[in-house]
Amino acid sequence: MNPLLSPFDTAPFSEIKNEYFKPAFLKAMADARAEINAITSNTVAPTFENTIEALEFSGQQLDRISSVFFNLNSAETNEEIQKIAQEVSPLLAEFGNDITLNESLFKRIKTVYENKSQLQLSVEQQTLLEKRYKSFSRNGANLSEDKKKRLREIDAESSKLKLKFGENILAETNKYQKHITNEADLNGLPEGAKEAAAQLAKSKGKEDGWMLTLDYPSYIPFMKYAKNRKLRKELSLAFGSKSFKGDELDNQENVLKIANLRHERANLLGYTTHAHFVLEERMAETPEKVHTFLNELLEKAKPAAIREFKQLEGFAKKEDGIDRLEKWDGSYYSEKLKQKLFSLDDEQLKPYFKLENVIDGVFQVAEKLFGLQFEEVSDIDTYHEEVKTYRVFDLEKNFISIFYADFHPRAGKRGGAWMTSFKSQWKRDGENVRPHISNVCNFTPSTPTKPSLLTFNEVTTLFHEFGHGLHGMLANTTYPSLSGTSVYWDFVELPSQVLENWCYEKEALALFAKHYETGEVIPMELVQKIKDSATFQEGMQTLKQLSFGLLDMAWHGTDPSDIKNVKAYEDQAFAATNLYPETPETCMSTAFAHIFQGGYASGYYSYKWAEVLDADAFAYFKEEGIFNKEVATKFKEHVLSKGGTENPMVLYKRFRGAEPKVEALLERAGLL
Ligand SMILES: [Zn+2]
Repeated sequence: MNPLLSPFDTAPFSEIKNEYFKPAFLKAMADARAEINAITSNTVAPTFENTIEALEFSGQQLDRISSVFFNLNSAETNEEIQKIAQEVSPLLAEFGNDITLNESLFKRIKTVYENKSQLQLSVEQQTLLEKRYKSFSRNGANLSEDKKKRLREIDAESSKLKLKFGENILAETNKYQKHITNEADLNGLPEGAKEAAAQLAKSKGKEDGWMLTLDYPSYIPFMKYAKNRKLRKELSLAFGSKSFKGDELDNQENVLKIANLRHERANLLGYTTHAHFVLEERMAETPEKVHTFLNELLEKAKPAAIREFKQLEGFAKKEDGIDRLEKWDGSYYSEKLKQKLFSLDDEQLKPYFKLENVIDGVFQVAEKLFGLQFEEVSDIDTYHEEVKTYRVFDLEKNFISIFYADFHPRAGKRGGAWMTSFKSQWKRDGENVRPHISNVCNFTPSTPTKPSLLTFNEVTTLFHEFGHGLHGMLANTTYPSLSGTSVYWDFVELPSQVLENWCYEKEALALFAKHYETGEVIPMELVQKIKDSATFQEGMQTLKQLSFGLLDMAWHGTDPSDIKNVKAYEDQAFAATNLYPETPETCMSTAFAHIFQGGYASGYYSYKWAEVLDADAFAYFKEEGIFNKEVATKFKEHVLSKGGTENPMVLYKRFRGAEPKVEALLERAGLL
């Protein structure tokens, strides 16, 4: 009996064998197809219920199987699971395409959409209808046959170009190897980084010496710590000139082609530019708003950035007689200056952040703010013995959610930290079906002599992922595709980032930041140091982020057909944010994978956007007290529980009483 094929509540991990997945996927896809056929072959005229709602609740078993499988593939994978993933991923992609290209399904959806004003739909229903309709129209469902054909051609060509773009960068990264044989060239580098470089040399077949590459784990420490300025320059230029050498790995043509195809696609669908197309489904809404936002921040951050740059220049001059600070000097002298100003190291802080204490701390914060209670239980099936399970209740003992926590690295777990779910939340037939939420991290494990002691960065990561977790756990919507974290993506980091703020507050730290041996609460001067070092060179950092956002908007917010010279165009976009002398041999665009390969086109601004949101939201808590029940309740009612049921700006204003302003971020960052 394949347990994946019958309905289940908590995922039945211990009963699942790998060979169950593929047949389960196939069966569930067939069932979902039959459900969709039932919708399209319905002889009754389309209604919200028999079309939009029926589609929304179709394929539920498929969703459950997918979430179990892909969560396993991230957190506890093996070769067998990876092989299954390669087999089922194209099938799932095809299944998704068959839906968005299903013309009779779209016809019914369109009929409902065009009659929406007569239907007396709730706000959530209107949002669902809009979202569903747009998922078809933004994919060309309304176009004539020849335009549809062109759109498919563009999509096919774009995905090839994106692939090529990424392959070129990867090939460039792998091509560069710097074999060091004189140990003095590595002066300044920490022991760990040196060992890794020696290891790398061996793995590349060298008998001795050290190997430097353009991979982050090799490149970043070298730029930060290596004394040898000439070598730093060489590595920096190699890094900055990836796919910009006019050879077969050059990406300039690809950049122009991708930008032009995106523009053409947007025009086909009736949008002025690609940015207009993308931002239609973002909180920022329009390119004009993004530009205003970026430029407002730029104006405020620039004086601080120039001040910090002068300070850094002065420091480098004094230290090593550097007359002109270059790009390859930045992170080296910044690190030195930071050490000099703060001398804050992880080992000093870690004893105050025993993992169990931090978990208890984040639970206490959730209890004080939202009245949640976490009960650790042992009767819920897990995929690994290290996974902890909790039942979450509110103050009235109503069941809210199941929470899984999987904290430490393992061979089968990918790097990083994330929130995910095994089951989403929805309401149907009078029942509020509660979600199963999970946090997966890679925190420092315990040793035979020491418990798991977290770095401060790990502490904020735990709060961050738990913030996403709360967004999932407190979801209270009707439709699963609008539930929890299913929001516009420039809004999704608000709950996670806002929760990080509690890690810097005395009142919150007093609850859990206690020395694991003595029980002493973390001294306030250490907390102050953490805060100060967190905003070190904030002006320069901000300028850098803004420069990427402006470059992204330059490529996607205008008609690119007249652009001939990638580098010249880029220089123009960077003009207002430059601090370092120009280097003609480097180019950012030809290696800007975020926007030309990944999904960040017209979206790079959202990093700063999310910071503005979280700072503005937390300022409200600060005004009224960080554990103020009223503010917390508003946040729960208007943001956390609402998912994507309404426009995020509307939700935010209901919580805050006004649109977010940049001032709170500027103040927190010390830029005012
Ligand atoms: Zn996040």
